[in-house]
Amino acid sequence: MKYYDKLVFELSQKGRVGFSLPVNKFPGSPKLPVQVRRASALPLPEVSEPDVVRHYTNLSQMNFGVDTGFYPLGSCTMKYNPKINEEIAALPGFGGLHPLMDDAQVPAAQKVLSDMNQFLSAITGMHAFTFAPCAGAHGELTGLMIMRQYHISRGDFGRTKVIVPDSAHGTNPASAAVAGLEVVEVKSLENGRIDVEALKPLLDSSVAGIMMTNPNTLGLFETQIKTIAELVHGVGGLLYYDGANMNPLMGVVRPGDMGFDIMHLNLHKTFSTPHGGGGPGSGPVGVAKHLVNCLPQIKVSGFHGNFGVILRAYAYILMLGKENLQKVGQYSVLSANYIKESLKDLYKLPIEGVCKHEFVFDGLINDGAHDDVHGATTLDVAKRLLDYGFHAPTIYFPLLFHQALMIEPTETESKETIDAFIEVMRKIAAEAAQDPTLLQSAPHNTVISRPDETTAARNPILKYQDTL
Ligand SMILES: *Cc1c(COP(=O)(O)O)cnc(C)c1O
Repeated sequence: MKYYDKLVFELSQKGRVGFSLPVNKFPGSPKLPVQVRRASALPLPEVSEPDVVRHYTNLSQMNFGVDTGFYPLGSCTMKYNPKINEEIAALPGFGGLHPLMDDAQVPAAQKVLSDMNQFLSAITGMHAFTFAPCAGAHGELTGLMIMRQYHISRGDFGRTKVIVPDSAHGTNPASAAVAGLEVVEVKSLENGRIDVEALKPLLDSSVAGIMMTNPNTLGLFETQIKTIAELVHGVGGLLYYDGANMNPLMGVVRPGDMGFDIMHLNLHKTFSTPHGGGGPGSGPVGVAKHLVNCLPQIKVSGFHGNFGVILRAYAYILMLGKENLQKVGQYSVLSANYIKESLKDLYKLPIEGVCKHEFVFDGLINDGAHDDVHGATTLDVAKRLLDYGFHAPTIYFPLLFHQALMIEPTETESKETIDAFIEVMRKIAAEAAQDPTLLQSAPHNTVISRPDETTAARNPILKYQDTL
């Protein structure tokens, strides 16, 4: 343990201070009433200013973020967040706005919202957006409420079911359940796409709609999307598009043109706002023309949602312009395919062919001992990557493969960074073949190695255990 791995509490020395306050010139001034005063002093650490600075700097370095290194977390689009966005979001004319100000007092903010409505509509092929939802899942819930409202407004009360593919992001069935709809799963084919034949018997007048993403969570384009749209519309259902990860499509294909009626975007993924750690996010919901009247009348969040996030996305879109937004799509697809092709001799690629912005391996081909018990698993590969300074890809999702390793490099990484990642993945595969224990005991270079993951998730200890 390095000296400064000690926490600020452990460095405390009685009487040491890191600040100086002016002498109280009014000693006789009234004190707070006894009943609201502390009975005893807080057990605050007594340390110098450099100790405090080092404490927080060290804590920040125990974590990993996009500003630390490559972060290929599939289905999450952890890309570079231009720092100019932060400056723009902090401009006093925006940062200082109060949500209760009159519309007439905030013409610039109004313009941002109306421009964004146009930009996002042009990018997605939707007719109009609401910016109230504050996350992707929040957008899904809002979108499903819009879907229900649409059916109810037409006097069609029997639509209780939502069809969700087995490869869907976990928030999809969860949002449908929260919206009071029954979730019906549709299976994927061997090639990772929706089984249209399995979809047909599920379709009747009880179907409110289907939730899909295209490319799906395997990074594969649903080539049958037109047929699926016709089938679902044919029984009076609507198509909901999960657009959390729009990068591969931008400037290339539009969900509106594929037949989708409602969708959300994650501005905090596709449009460059930093995310992770719970927000703030923005999940604007767009609808086709025939649903504009069903956009939320009562608010699903306070005011216009997280305006600072919308502003960052606005800056990002203006900065790139139409031509470069298209390159976002093209580069994200190129990067993913480059990694896939460079590693598929060592990692199992269950579905061959061109992927979009992400793809899924099913563990190592040569896993060391050729079985899941003694050999190196996907978890071991992910842990070992941390030793080499890369964040792990998404693991064990989607649930279609036992050893899923879901890689999304994004469009913002250089070829050199991607090559370095490929080299390390190849090195780890070689290590697994020679000595799987090296992987099974990884990571070796991080602050903590392998916590009990269930306890860490269910019963986390998030603050210093006070022993003073
Ligand atoms: C991230 C993600 C979501 C959920 O977004 P949140 O902002 O985390 O609620 C939904 N669908 C997909 C495909 C995603 O990647």
